[in-house]
Amino acid sequence: MERTYTVGEIVKTKKPHVCGSKDWKILRVGADIKLECCGCKREIIMMRFELNKRIIK
Ligand SMILES: [Zn+2]
Repeated sequence: MERTYTVGEIVKTKKPHVCGSKDWKILRVGADIKLECCGCKREIIMMRFELNKRIIK
């Protein structure tokens, strides 16, 4: 089943970011997904399938 993502939603990744935070805020949803780290506020863009693999469901 396809996981859906909503702008503003917080997702948790299995592995922490370099800053130690596991929480990410979704900034944009499209073919790829833009995320902001809740720890250091750094922004990254990830393909949807990559995010599906990395988050805790
Ligand atoms: Zn971070």
